[in-house]
Amino acid sequence: LRRNPGEAEFHQAVREVLVSLGPVVSKRPEYVDAAVIRRICEPERQIIFRVPWVDDAGRVQINRGFRVEFNSALGPFKGGLRFHPSVYLGIVKFLGFEQVFKNALTGMPIGGGKGGSDFDPKGRSDAEVMRFCQSFMTELYRHIGEYRDVPAGDIGVGGREIGYLFGQYKRITNQYESGVLTGKGLTWGGSQVRKEATGYGTVFFVSEMLKAAGDSFDGKRVVVSGSGNVATYAIEKVHELGGTVVACSDSSGYVVDEAGIDLDLLKEVKEVRRGRISDYAELRGNGVHATTSGSIWDVSCDIALPSATQNELDGDDAIALVKNGCTIVAEGANMPATPEAVAVFEEAGVRFAPGKAANAGGVATSALEMQQNASRDSWTFEHTEERLAEIMRGIHDRCAETADEFGTPGSYVAGANIAGFIRVADAMLALGVV
Ligand code: NDP
Repeated sequence: LRRNPGEAEFHQAVREVLVSLGPVVSKRPEYVDAAVIRRICEPERQIIFRVPWVDDAGRVQINRGFRVEFNSALGPFKGGLRFHPSVYLGIVKFLGFEQVFKNALTGMPIGGGKGGSDFDPKGRSDAEVMRFCQSFMTELYRHIGEYRDVPAGDIGVGGREIGYLFGQYKRITNQYESGVLTGKGLTWGGSQVRKEATGYGTVFFVSEMLKAAGDSFDGKRVVVSGSGNVATYAIEKVHELGGTVVACSDSSGYVVDEAGIDLDLLKEVKEVRRGRISDYAELRGNGVHATTSGSIWDVSCDIALPSATQNELDGDDAIALVKNGCTIVAEGANMPATPEAVAVFEEAGVRFAPGKAANAGGVATSALEMQQNASRDSWTFEHTEERLAEIMRGIHDRCAETADEFGTPGSYVAGANIAGFIRVADAMLALGVV
């Protein structure tokens, strides 16, 4: 705490991992001897920089840019960029720390990192977003590269922003280095299924949880928070697998649509018009309206997929979910459930999948994009989706088996933390004290 003052989210993420590691260090004292745990909590490199740009009114704006290169024992640093006014070092470090374990869990050769800025793209014109992205990349370009650090999107960074960032990188370096960023458009080096991957992957993970209990999505009532990239494609896959998503949200409220969220309309409102969830309700009609008070977690469901942001589901929300019959919670977002909420789920026997396992499909498909870029190839949608499904099955089974092995059967939290940790820690031991 004294070493990283004021970084509440980072402390929360570290604590959540360390409490799982007791059984590991008692079996493997060499991790303690080599100070692996202390080293894993310290980023390899942290970069903070000024991002000056000029808005449409000709005023100079200043934002702060971050890239935390957390751990490269398994491969180049890999993790998204977040543009949101709440971004500060503590958020970027929590996300980077989570990313190290998540990336390890995928079984792919990628280290962990994260970055972003306190820039708020909401209400900004395309031209302003472009000028901001160009200024951001004018500093970031010297720190990234196919073999060094490969950023992608996160909150506030989608296809549009990745395009502007890649354009500026290409211009500055005079190289078409496709592998330097992932989440690219399909005509300029992107991968099929990357856009859908995090949402689809979360639903594939839940599908494995259901299968393990002899069940399926068929007829299930699902609540998904958020209406951004992760939420949209989680909703799409739930509907494909026979469930019904009855509610989704944004930061200004939520809608309940008993007939099932109309995905075409949601995409039109969110991806094309960049509108609000209240616009969805208005256009949908049929008595659907946006609610700005209360919590989306008061809506009864069998399965909850928090897919908006950190700490959006607290202890009281968890109690409401349990009371209304929810039996599975899987994190599409990073750390959306508070520690109090997770404790409520554990106590009530709700099966809970942490983000570092359940939402790893996004980064896994980014690694598939890197593979395609390296071999100058592009795969079909079907092939890429099958690879994603296989990866999510692998992560599910690895978490379940590790939880059994270390005496915490049924705990995906312990399984994910331990399996991710062991893979990174073994590589760190092999590489010596670096
Ligand atoms: P988007 O920016 O596409 O969407 C974010 C959604 O969450 C929006 O609907 C947004 O509403 C809502 N939201 C953001 N902040 C808040 C808040 N404080 N309260 C309520 N709602 C909020 O981001 P993504 O879908 O990409 O990311 C969502 C989560 O998933 C994040 O935690 C991210 O780290 C995680 N994630 C994303 C991956 C990816 O591939 N994109 C990969 C793995 C994890 P509004 O528009 O009103 O702000």
